[in-house]
Amino acid sequence: MSRAAEVRFERVWKRFGAESVAVRGVSFTVPAGTLCTLLGPSGCGKTTTLRMIAGLEYPSEGRVLIGGRDVSALPPAERDVSMVFQSYALFPHMTVLENVCYGLTVSRRPKREAMEAGRAALDSVGLAGFEARLPSELSGGQQQRVAVARALVLEPSVLLFDEPLSNLDARLRRKMREEIRDLQQRLGVTVVYVTHDQAEALAISDKIIVMNQAVIAQEGTPRELYASPASAFVAGFVGEANRIPASLRRLDDRDAEVSIGKARLVLPHRGLPDGPAELALRPEAITLLTPADPAAMLEGTVSKAAYLGGVMEYTVATPSGEVFVVSPSAGFTPASGDAVALSFGRHGAALLPG
Ligand code: ADP
Ligand code: MG
Repeated sequence: MSRAAEVRFERVWKRFGAESVAVRGVSFTVPAGTLCTLLGPSGCGKTTTLRMIAGLEYPSEGRVLIGGRDVSALPPAERDVSMVFQSYALFPHMTVLENVCYGLTVSRRPKREAMEAGRAALDSVGLAGFEARLPSELSGGQQQRVAVARALVLEPSVLLFDEPLSNLDARLRRKMREEIRDLQQRLGVTVVYVTHDQAEALAISDKIIVMNQAVIAQEGTPRELYASPASAFVAGFVGEANRIPASLRRLDDRDAEVSIGKARLVLPHRGLPDGPAELALRPEAITLLTPADPAAMLEGTVSKAAYLGGVMEYTVATPSGEVFVVSPSAGFTPASGDAVALSFGRHGAALLPG
């Protein structure tokens, strides 16, 4: 793969009929050579967005640019893009090599050249030696690799994946997502990757675009989204978050004093006004203490305690509501019914509109 291209959406809309809007004025840029994930719940418009990059759907309004070229009205074959489908879409009666070479044969590449390219693509996904098998003779993970090889053989400058791992079991999903990331880095190709699985998105992405109800809720690096969710939706969808009522008083143009009961904390106000707000607090950013501990910020009673091996999961009833806490299973491990105190700092805490 020689080149990678930037993908750009400019105020793109997609309507299906008069009633349904699948994509509502969306703009974003995927820099060349990066892996960008479209993350969001089912029905939010991810697949439609991907299909508009591929040329399988055309925007109702707005422009799609690939490598700076307006491709909005071009058919798929003229976009230099290939797509790996959720279902793999392999031809059952063709061998692995024939499946992989199919696109090249269609574009009338000489047979010997096509076969050579197909072998190289299979080699790059770790399937050298499987050329003569039928898809039915492969495991789910191997079929997935064939689907990736079939996309790679066309040497596209943009590679699209639509929930490629949803048919695999949890262990294989983790392995395959790492393989896709490795391949992307090795080839330096631009990848747009659709998933509803936040762990998958956090693990492999340079950038995540979170979609909700046909619009972009927030975009950023995995760290930016996890540390500074812009809304309750993003806080809850990218990782887990407690939402604790708080009140905010600005100290300067950057920071605010945040009050939760008697506790005080200084956090970036991110433009929010003085008054009621919400604190998004990550479960693993909370420390459990004995009630008398001088660092106590919020008191409560453990209502549930579950041992999960490496970590404990607690639900703690507090005057600010139930708080979910994940903490190491070594050390202080109170039981259900015990009085405890919670403390937390700036890390893993973000202000949201109240
Ligand atoms: P996602 O991939 O995030 O689950 P989709 O892009 O598939 O979401 O769908 C977004 C919305 O557009 C949904 O409400 C869906 O029903 C609608 N939609 C998608 N494709 C079509 C179509 N071909 N005709 C009518 N409505 C569609
Ligand atoms: Mg979809």
